[in-house]
Amino acid sequence: MTIGFQFDNNYARLPDRFHTRLMPTPVRDPAWIALNERLARDLGLDPDAMRASADVFAGNVVPEGAEPLAQLYAGHQFGGWSPQLGDGRAILLGEHIHDDRRWDVVLKGSGPTPYSRMGDGRTAIGPVVREYLLSEAMHALGVPTTRALAAVTTGEPVLREAGPLPGAVLTRIASSHVRVGTFQVFAARGDVAALRLLFDHVVARHAPDARTPLDLLRHVMSVQAELVSRWMALGFVHGVMNTDNMTVSGETIDYGPCAFLEDYHPDTVFSSIDQLGRYAWKNQPDIALWNLAQFATALLPLMGDRDVAIREATETLEGFADLYAREWRARLSAKIGLDDMDKGHELLAIMAEDRRDFTNTFRMLATDPHALGDTARMDDWLARWTKRCPDVDAMRNANPVVIPRNHRVQQAIVTAEGGNYAEMHALHAVLSDPWTETEYNASYRAPAAPGERVTRTFCGT
Ligand code: AMP
Ligand code: MG
Repeated sequence: MTIGFQFDNNYARLPDRFHTRLMPTPVRDPAWIALNERLARDLGLDPDAMRASADVFAGNVVPEGAEPLAQLYAGHQFGGWSPQLGDGRAILLGEHIHDDRRWDVVLKGSGPTPYSRMGDGRTAIGPVVREYLLSEAMHALGVPTTRALAAVTTGEPVLREAGPLPGAVLTRIASSHVRVGTFQVFAARGDVAALRLLFDHVVARHAPDARTPLDLLRHVMSVQAELVSRWMALGFVHGVMNTDNMTVSGETIDYGPCAFLEDYHPDTVFSSIDQLGRYAWKNQPDIALWNLAQFATALLPLMGDRDVAIREATETLEGFADLYAREWRARLSAKIGLDDMDKGHELLAIMAEDRRDFTNTFRMLATDPHALGDTARMDDWLARWTKRCPDVDAMRNANPVVIPRNHRVQQAIVTAEGGNYAEMHALHAVLSDPWTETEYNASYRAPAAPGERVTRTFCGT
């Protein structure tokens, strides 16, 4: 019985300065938390063989063909430059090929690396449960994202501020883990040869039609415009949009402090360390552009004459506003069933004033709009909106029934810390079908009661 990995490791073939080869650090007693059977089958893997191999997903046994390594990258964190980050608690096992597609297989929490700095290279069970639930929910909601294939406990405690917590390892799947910060690290070092190799690697993987760095910049702008507009349309607050957490693939990565809006307000921030609200819901498109400008800056050494390159890159970046506006228009129009941005923004303003639940308000608009008319202002908006015959099908497909509500995620984490994964599995099942009202998801649609509300999240380590 074999798991079925078919490794072909292009990143490992890049020169040594791109990564550090090393093995995951073995753990005492691997045991399953969750195995994503559906994803396993989609990747051509055998779930039964996986189930018999918790030791592989804990890093105790390295599968044949894997060439484990930690990737180097840098990044701007909250606007400040960190010249060397890198995988401090993650190890890329290799690139699995299935149906002509290439998938990174990464163990997260698999032990220290040369990039761990002060960290222990480990992950507590909480952040693993959180990433598993949130990333799989995002996928079901139609958002490009890294995926969660497996989660195991290690049988070893990790020490965190709260005291000792069960350790865990997540197996993350992604179309790649190349970040804006991967380009930045070589640009900062003046290593143009490495930049060129990285450019070729990324073009082959993500943008086969791109010929020039400007083509690649346009490609990443376009996938990021789509990505961030999808976040915005779901009320998702990423919380830590540092350039090391922005992929060039356009997949959401890093589920540390993220959360979904409940009562809507555009200034909402959840992350305890985002004190200035840099990564508030409403700022996400602007931050995406800021990060893309860092990406463009890192590409400049590949673009010939510097003055010309700066002018061309700047002109290209100026296109982001229109690109994003088009994506947002498509998303907001679908949410209200009308191609009318004024109407959409008026509704958001009413929702902010009344602190209405983001998800449930939009869903009700598609299913029972009259139930929303409980204020004069809302009544007036609804009357004008109804007259325009909104597209109910579009609305049902754009406004989900359930999202991972923070208090539910928190319950799943707290119970998992106590060794009970039932709530995690129930929540995962509910979130894998977020588009239909079912008896099963009824209790998951309700906003948190006042005593249950989670208003702060912490960068999971
Ligand atoms: P993040 O905030 O998750 O984007 O991580 C920022 C950097 O800190 C990355 O280089 C991580 O690999 C590193 N890091 C976070 N937690 C740990 C940990 N427990 N041990 C080692 N490195 C860590
Ligand atoms: Mg990160």
